[in-house]
Amino acid sequence: MQTSINPATGDILREYKLHSPAQVREAIEAAHRCFLQWRETTLGERSQWLLKVADTLLAKKNDYASLMAQEMGKPLKEAIAEIEKCAACAKYFAENGPHFLADHAIETEYRKSYAAFRPLGVILGVMPWNFPFWQVFRFVLPSLMAGNVALLKHASNTPGCALAIEAVFRDAGLPEGAFQALLIPGSRVEEVIAHPQVAAVTLTGSTAAGRSVASLAGKYLKKSVLELGGSDAYLILADADIDHAVKTCAASRLLNCGQSCISAKRLIVVPEVREQFERGLLDTFRQQRLGDPFDAQTTVGPMSRIDLRDELHTQVRRSIDAGARCLIGGDIPSGKGAFYPPTILTDVKKGMPAYEEELFGPVAVIIPAKDEEDAIRIANDTEYGLGGAIFTRDLVRGEIIARERIESGSCFVNMLVRSDPRLPFGGVKHSGYGRELSAFGIHEFVNIKSIVVA
Ligand code: NAP
Repeated sequence: MQTSINPATGDILREYKLHSPAQVREAIEAAHRCFLQWRETTLGERSQWLLKVADTLLAKKNDYASLMAQEMGKPLKEAIAEIEKCAACAKYFAENGPHFLADHAIETEYRKSYAAFRPLGVILGVMPWNFPFWQVFRFVLPSLMAGNVALLKHASNTPGCALAIEAVFRDAGLPEGAFQALLIPGSRVEEVIAHPQVAAVTLTGSTAAGRSVASLAGKYLKKSVLELGGSDAYLILADADIDHAVKTCAASRLLNCGQSCISAKRLIVVPEVREQFERGLLDTFRQQRLGDPFDAQTTVGPMSRIDLRDELHTQVRRSIDAGARCLIGGDIPSGKGAFYPPTILTDVKKGMPAYEEELFGPVAVIIPAKDEEDAIRIANDTEYGLGGAIFTRDLVRGEIIARERIESGSCFVNMLVRSDPRLPFGGVKHSGYGRELSAFGIHEFVNIKSIVVA
């Protein structure tokens, strides 16, 4: 069984029967049958399908948003924005996919030579609950555009979202088998990866899950892309606009109750601006409203599960026991639900969980740096390398630090890191490999085929 639990109340929403091994095999075979037809469709036809997907999403955006709010606690207005982002991504790949996938001419001495981008087949996506629509659409839309078909193994706490997404593709009129959700736990992913008709796998999730899926992909020699955890460093330099830095860091850290891979997880501050930054952040955190995701006044909803809330609290307490100072929050509120208050830890140092580990919740971690060089050193002193940001009024210096010095898949100057269909998204180090979105993402799951006519 997979059980949907409302994290704001602890109430069971619904139970879903798992798919049996035979049902999983049937789904893979149906996906492969669909692929044999889907790959024959033209890029123009696929663009039209993607536009229908966008319309279908927008037509029922409030229903999908409510489902997310119920199943994983995302405030309703954030959930609506997530659906709109999925629809915009569908339009982006509908408009740009044909250009990204056009033959790429290569000059040689032959009559004709070029690279063609041919589909691979059935792609499995193993996805997390934190952006339960966005994470799925950002892998599926370019995959379908490239002529592949998709299977989804969603997180075990969001089966309702998994089936709702399946219905989006059905309602948009895509052929049967183009997109199917498999209700199976992580422990059964091997059944799918091992199947000869599955060509590739992409996982978005924790580093531990990434290791496991990468080893299965290695065992069965399947192409893989991994989007894993992060502990993004936001550097607040001496000449930063502190009001802007405070606002941006707070927004990044508290979006989705802090449960984002590219959240501002480590705020590294130089001595000249530390006091002002800390004071500003504290004021901003004091103004937050923790509560019911359906209440329009709520800025921070519950976390998605009680066990994850308790794990976060243990990381916070262990950091405080090791010498971190808690400026606000840090206690589990009484009452039902997986709530955790917006929390600020400061004086965080190497060796503390708040320095070494990913904190996946509404906890801002301030790490004091001696100077700018020390801030850059601390930013890279992590196993992760997903995103990062630099706050400075010197845009040239900011860009050099972002480009040359920070070990991450993206680094933004004076703004929060966000995913954008136009930009490649992914990590280095233990944050994974491969890229999603943009022209780079659509080329992950294609056969880049050299064609020569002598
Ligand atoms: P998770 O526990 O790794 O779960 C993610 C998905 O992987 C779920 O579908 C889960 O299935 C599955 N899974 C877990 N262990 C597995 C295993 N050993 N083999 C195969 N599949 C397995 O992660 P989460 O707690 O849901 O999400 C939080 C993590 O994801 C954070 O570390 C966050 O930074 C990362 N994340 C990264 C990105 C990115 O783009 N880089 C985006 C969002 C989140 P079950 O639910 O059935 O266990």
